Amino acid sequence: MRCEVVAIGTELLLGQILDTNSAWIGEHLAAAGIDAHFQTKVGDNQARMVQALRIALSRSEAVIVCGGLGPTQDDITREAIAEVMNVPLERDQAVVARIRSMFEARGRTMSENNKRQADVPRGAVVIPQTRGTAPGLICPVGKKVVYAVPGVPYEMQDMLERAVLPDLTARAGTRSTIVSRVLRTWGLAESALAELVGPRLDALDAAGSNPTIAFLASGIEGIKVRVTAKAEDRDAALGLLEAEEAELRAILGSYVFGVDDDTMETAVGVLLEEQCLTLGLAESMTGGLVASRLVNVAGSSAWFRGSVVSYASEVKFDVLGVPEGPVVCEEAAAAMAEGARKVLGADVGLSVTGVAGPAEQDGQPVGTAYFGIALDDDTQVVHARLFGDRERIRQYAAISLLDALRRRLLARA
Ligand code: ATP
Ligand code: MG
Repeated sequence: MRCEVVAIGTELLLGQILDTNSAWIGEHLAAAGIDAHFQTKVGDNQARMVQALRIALSRSEAVIVCGGLGPTQDDITREAIAEVMNVPLERDQAVVARIRSMFEARGRTMSENNKRQADVPRGAVVIPQTRGTAPGLICPVGKKVVYAVPGVPYEMQDMLERAVLPDLTARAGTRSTIVSRVLRTWGLAESALAELVGPRLDALDAAGSNPTIAFLASGIEGIKVRVTAKAEDRDAALGLLEAEEAELRAILGSYVFGVDDDTMETAVGVLLEEQCLTLGLAESMTGGLVASRLVNVAGSSAWFRGSVVSYASEVKFDVLGVPEGPVVCEEAAAAMAEGARKVLGADVGLSVTGVAGPAEQDGQPVGTAYFGIALDDDTQVVHARLFGDRERIRQYAAISLLDALRRRLLARA
């Protein structure tokens, strides 16, 4: 069973509202094990809506149309569907009565326009409305089907769960579920990742592409590896998913820092908590970005002591006890980490100093960064060269620093 979504509304094309309905429906079709290969957006124009519906019906067994069921002149989804079905619209008096009573219940009178919402293409079945005033429609087109649901997200969601998805799964006959999980990786370029995972992809292809694997670049936050598995029920699908996750983790090792909603800072937080360590920061080029990320983690007060934003060299000397001299170098990063650990009373001192640009500093090129980690009796410094503009370099420095700490903690465990 293949099902497509057609979202109606000129405002979607103009970028005035985001088509969150298609995203929501896509997620729920996947969970119901229904293949969805296309999503279309079309404006409030009958000829183009009819065209979009015909194309969708030519390649899928079911189509969900959302929007354009309201009472105003530009709400013409009903008309477009009737044209595709080649049948007239007929006013359903039971629906008129229901709309009238909804208005009366709110102490308002129904306008003449609202009666248009009771127009039903001949042969279609009404999905009773519980939240808004527009009913939904189940419209047979030969052996295929078009569902019409309102554009207002909470009305659409209610109708989809209550009527559309049950009807679709009944038509699909065999039940199945699609589940997916995202492995968050950091430190590998997309090409390098693809090369590492390549043999595994080939093996899955040969075995029938279940699960499937996809790469999603997410800027400075790394590359996501999404695993999607399909099976008769949720437990079986999860079983496939977990086996594949284990395969991928064996290949990618510590490049994987988390799954789904995990972030680099939550990963660091978990490790600090496991090892009963507190953290103090000294930030120069990131100016508090790292601290801000850490305090975003719920419960971070258990392990995060604070940050010294030692931007001026004198602050590095006076507050952190860094020896006077160059401040973008390995020695300064080490002294900052040790200073932060001391003044903040933490178990781990973490520091970053470098050149965010636009101009070079201390003879060091833009993008130079030193990450200091003072932990146990050993202070280590990682030297990195980051690329991009000032903003990007600072963001990269923040996540790179957290990753350096994560790796140090992993090695220690
Ligand atoms: P109503 O009966 O309330 O008029 P409708 O079926 O006519 O509903 P639209 O007029 O197309 O729906 O949209 C109503 C509102 O629903 C829009 O103003 C917008 O806020 C929201 N909406 C419509 N389509 C979408 C969509 N694809 N994604 C997210 N929100 C949407
Ligand atoms: Mg409307």
